[in-house]
Amino acid sequence: MSKKSCNFAPKLAKIEDMNKYETINTENDELMIREEFEALLEDYRQTPHRQKIELITDCFEFAKQAHAGIRRRSGEPYIMHPLAVARIVVKEMGLGSTSICSALLHDVVEDTDYTVEDIEQRFGPKIASIVEGLTKISGGVFGEQASIQAENFRKLILTMSEDIRVILIKIADRLHNMRTLEAQPVEKQYKIAGETLYIYAPLAHRLGLFPIKTELENLAFKYEHPETYAQIEERLQADKHLQMETFEKFAEPVRKKLKAMGYEFKLEARIKSVYSIWKKMQTKNVPFDGVYDLLAVRIIFKPNPDMSEKDQCWMIYSALTQYYKPHPERIRDWISTPKANGYEALHVTLMTQDGEWVEVQIRTERMHEIAERGLAAHWRYKTGFEDESELDKWIRAIQEMLKHPEPDAIDFMDTFKLNLFADEVFVFTPHGEIKIMPQGSTALDFAYMLHTDLGEHCIGAKVNHKLEPLSYVLQGGDQVEVLTSHLQKPQLEWLNWATTAKAKENLKRRLRRDGVLIPDLQKKPDKKEYSKWNPLRYLPHSRRITITDDSLNGEHVIAPCCHPIPGDDVLGFMEDNGVISIHKRDCPEAEALKAKHGQQLYAAEWKVTDKHSFPCTIFIEGIDKVGMVIEILLVISQKFCLNIGRIDLTSKDGIFSGNVRIYTHSTNEVEELCKELRAIEEVNVAQRLNIEPNE
Ligand code: MN
Repeated sequence: MSKKSCNFAPKLAKIEDMNKYETINTENDELMIREEFEALLEDYRQTPHRQKIELITDCFEFAKQAHAGIRRRSGEPYIMHPLAVARIVVKEMGLGSTSICSALLHDVVEDTDYTVEDIEQRFGPKIASIVEGLTKISGGVFGEQASIQAENFRKLILTMSEDIRVILIKIADRLHNMRTLEAQPVEKQYKIAGETLYIYAPLAHRLGLFPIKTELENLAFKYEHPETYAQIEERLQADKHLQMETFEKFAEPVRKKLKAMGYEFKLEARIKSVYSIWKKMQTKNVPFDGVYDLLAVRIIFKPNPDMSEKDQCWMIYSALTQYYKPHPERIRDWISTPKANGYEALHVTLMTQDGEWVEVQIRTERMHEIAERGLAAHWRYKTGFEDESELDKWIRAIQEMLKHPEPDAIDFMDTFKLNLFADEVFVFTPHGEIKIMPQGSTALDFAYMLHTDLGEHCIGAKVNHKLEPLSYVLQGGDQVEVLTSHLQKPQLEWLNWATTAKAKENLKRRLRRDGVLIPDLQKKPDKKEYSKWNPLRYLPHSRRITITDDSLNGEHVIAPCCHPIPGDDVLGFMEDNGVISIHKRDCPEAEALKAKHGQQLYAAEWKVTDKHSFPCTIFIEGIDKVGMVIEILLVISQKFCLNIGRIDLTSKDGIFSGNVRIYTHSTNEVEELCKELRAIEEVNVAQRLNIEPNE
């Protein structure tokens, strides 16, 4: 039978997945399905796009017969799931018919005998390619091995950059699975919840889908910590009534004032989610009662078209402050500089009649829709000739990154995840142009962001008119002027200061071209996140060793590639001759060993003594002055009594920088030393290099 000729003839569904089983639909089932489909059409009619009812109906009928007879673990007919996903797509994300159709069909290729070609034949190439993207990233991102996880993640991001709707529908799919997670067995709940918290919630956040992000986090938390969730939920319910009283009291004069100003508006009370309360309790280390800002108030108003939205937000702010005292340090103007995910609003914190602080978010209706639906709404409001938004830039940056993919998918994943989680800082060019950089970016990153050429010739920067080194970490509001010299060229050590994907990728490419051997992994991911990927965690006890002064006389040897010192995170690798060599965990050679010879790995612990000393290189940078070098040497050799192996400092344009190799006993000692060096007034940077420079 030719695939193309079979019009709506049901094909055999695959039921390899144990979570689905086959039966015939009852009359009640049919009724429920029809009702859900009608509700979907109703949601669709509420939107500005509304001409493709027929196409949507075709897709629905097709998906329905393709999944016919299959049920979800919950007992519902399978088609209820794609229907729910389609409703999320239209109602909660504001997407149009192409996305609705793709959502309806999203599991057809994965779960039945229909192919992407069948979909293309019936519904055209666009829908088919989105369904194909969704099929490629079906299944979990977290496999059994870190390398497979990372590769799946890469696939996910790749598909996303091809058509952003793929990822939006994927998030909708995940949201519905989370809402119905109850029906899954506990081990599966854990895995799905963990993955949601790790990847999908941050993605939703990045794409500006704030309510969805919050719900994903909250649901994931509920399944990962059911008891804690129940406790907080109970406290919250008990408190709710009090919060609403506070709100009503607070809202009354606000309503009056806004009416007097002639505005049409909505006032909303928002209570913090269980997850965000828990997070605050963790990070601030306070009990439930210590989380004071449970309540937030939102003002959503229809702006007067003759005046700028920004001015009107500030006018409302100034009207509010006639009643309530504002907190001087807690004003966030996301209108003048919107967040990278497109978010705009004016946030202020005001003191209530009873002396409590309440956060108030002031938004126009347009800003509100962007805040709720992120991307989709954001593009709808774009007129086409405006500047590229921060979100567009972010997506473009990902595309750039994918054009030059690292050979190692784990590395890619780390870079990308850093990018995903990073908060932003705003800095200014000398011409007053605002640039948004990830938090923790350095002057070097900034130079590379402006232009690769600037990055490659960067010698430092003038930050707020003061000379600063390449390694300077940008602070919000800094004015940054990049200083260059045509004599300058990229150095291996720069990898220590390059934190953005762009700077890293460009720097590595250039170094490779110059024939420099580059260690591939230069990561500083969140420690907690990273520990998930550490294969050493899973080693049995028989594969653990302790490094002592004695064992270093032949049994264990220090690897020459990365020169670990006591206190470093290290691992052992059994060489062919039976000797175990000790590497830093992030040593590039060790990374390769981890991937290829996992069975020869040992988890290692280093007993710190002060008998042995080990070579270690410190990078120092600062403002040059007469006698600088002597001052540095005095600290090292007199205060700390350490031997010096090599000194390599140069001075250029008033800034000196370079390396000093010392012999040290432990990481703690190195840290103390660096602290002491930084205490010298002119020294800006003193820190251990992650990579030992070539001789
Ligand atoms: Mn699905």
